[in-house]
Amino acid sequence: MRTHTLAVRGGSTLDPQTGAVSFPIYQTSTYTMPGAGTPRTFQGRSLGYARTENPTRTALETTLARLENAKYGIAFSSGLAAINSVLHLLKSGDHVIVSRDLYAGVFQQFTRLISGFGIEVDFVELTDLEALRAAIQPRTRMVWVETPSNPTLAITDIAEVAAIAKQQDMLTVVDSTFATPILQRPLEMGADVVVHSATKYINGHADVISGVVATNDSGLADEIRFVQDIAGAVPSPMDCFLVARGLQTLALRMERHSENALKLAMVLEANEHVARVRYPGLDSDPGHEVAKRQMTGFGGMVSFELKGPASDAILLLNNLNHFDLATSLGGVRSMICHPASMTHSSMTPEQRFDSGLPDGLIRMSVGLEDVEDLIEDLDQAIKQVYRRTTSYVHSPLVPSPAAARAASLKRL
Ligand SMILES: *Cc1c(COP(=O)(O)O)cnc(C)c1O
Repeated sequence: MRTHTLAVRGGSTLDPQTGAVSFPIYQTSTYTMPGAGTPRTFQGRSLGYARTENPTRTALETTLARLENAKYGIAFSSGLAAINSVLHLLKSGDHVIVSRDLYAGVFQQFTRLISGFGIEVDFVELTDLEALRAAIQPRTRMVWVETPSNPTLAITDIAEVAAIAKQQDMLTVVDSTFATPILQRPLEMGADVVVHSATKYINGHADVISGVVATNDSGLADEIRFVQDIAGAVPSPMDCFLVARGLQTLALRMERHSENALKLAMVLEANEHVARVRYPGLDSDPGHEVAKRQMTGFGGMVSFELKGPASDAILLLNNLNHFDLATSLGGVRSMICHPASMTHSSMTPEQRFDSGLPDGLIRMSVGLEDVEDLIEDLDQAIKQVYRRTTSYVHSPLVPSPAAARAASLKRL
């Protein structure tokens, strides 16, 4: 089956009992057994207790796995629960190399959760393969890649990283949330595990918190499933139903997200008040060549900076009409955020500086509206900011640590 067909018809078999075309929500905590110790089975999985197995979840997992071209798909209660279960593959004494720029919650898992378990973490600029090679130690067990990264949209070459990792017997894990299995399939490029926040594009309607892990390795799948079960990081049947429903339009949505985002990125790039746009679909983007090789579309996320001081970002956000000012992404409605004061505010100014996140950066999740409305809205909002500000000083893309501290967002 091809991608669009898989997304629509996927693995969700019709309801075996009634033939209903919408897979039922098995809202149950447990299952009776026909005889002691002989549980019933569904799609090869035995139905003992609903934390371990649920048919609605299995139907979703089957579709997700097939979309990733993976043997195993595991649905979670959140993206961070999925990620945390994968991090349980690490043991005390291990060393892990992590993308420098990444989702702040993942950053916190590395810096505040697993660091307490005797695991050493190094944040490395993984777009620089020499930096990766230099960071490898005999104890390095895993490389954690987020591409495209959140929020600077840096593109890491998955095949190159996975090849280097394989030579050293390290696992490559890719957080592919921004790309979805429609635009990028890391397992086909040599990654061992792929994770997603399904809260974002996969569900796509901003009404569920959910996560996914996919892999072709049965040993890893068993270990991750065991952690999920025993840590209790399981999604509800209702959430699985909603994500499975969203999945049916994922391929179609990603096409339109990508189309709208490219147009918006081009308009912004041409705007005299915009200092820099990050979108892997732009010819000018440093990640463009790698993105063309490993993605079949460039997605719906665009980040940019205005030429004025970081506080102009806040002014702009407050002048928009068609973008929800909110912390999330990947839904049908366009959303906009200022990472330094919103999604990444849990990081210190120094940590943001180290991960290459400028205080003036604005991150957009371009939705499925008519792009002309979005373009007009951004245009009028930018004009309003610079009608007020008659002159401005150019702010460097990455402020010095001192400047980052000075621009501490409390002042904004
Ligand atoms: C949102 C997000 C996560 C965390 O997922 P939740 O579903 O919010 O737990 C992880 N990685 C990336 C890239 C994200 O955007």
